[in-house]
Amino acid sequence: MNENIFSKIVNNKIKSKIVYRDKYVTAFNDINPKCPVHIIIVPNIYIKNLNYINKSNILLLGKMLFIASKLAKKNNIDKSGYRIIINCNKNSGQEINYLHLHILGGCYLGKIINLK
Ligand code: 5GP
Repeated sequence: MNENIFSKIVNNKIKSKIVYRDKYVTAFNDINPKCPVHIIIVPNIYIKNLNYINKSNILLLGKMLFIASKLAKKNNIDKSGYRIIINCNKNSGQEINYLHLHILGGCYLGKIINLK
């Protein structure tokens, strides 16, 4: 479901609030934020989910985390804390079939075990 939405955002075919972009990754605000800060980071190349990465993607994944840490600082949630989530397939609740990382912060997230 909705597997092309993030491709369309990366390719500027639909509007979103882009907060960072470079040659490798694009970051934008989640349309339905679960916290005051809820940013999605995607690679600019299509990868369905974490099950589809290979060795050539290792630097790209590092880049996604590096940019996540920079955006956390920029949004002043580095000290208060934040959570990075990468969902994969049905049991995680993955909705969009395009590898993406969530940065959630600016609110108390609770223990991960309490996530519903
Ligand atoms: P998932 O559950 O797949 O890990 O997360 C998908 C996320 O994408 C959800 O948090 C949802 O709110 C967000 N989302 C879905 N459609 C759009 C859209 O068209 N634009 C933006 N910016 N976010 C979207």
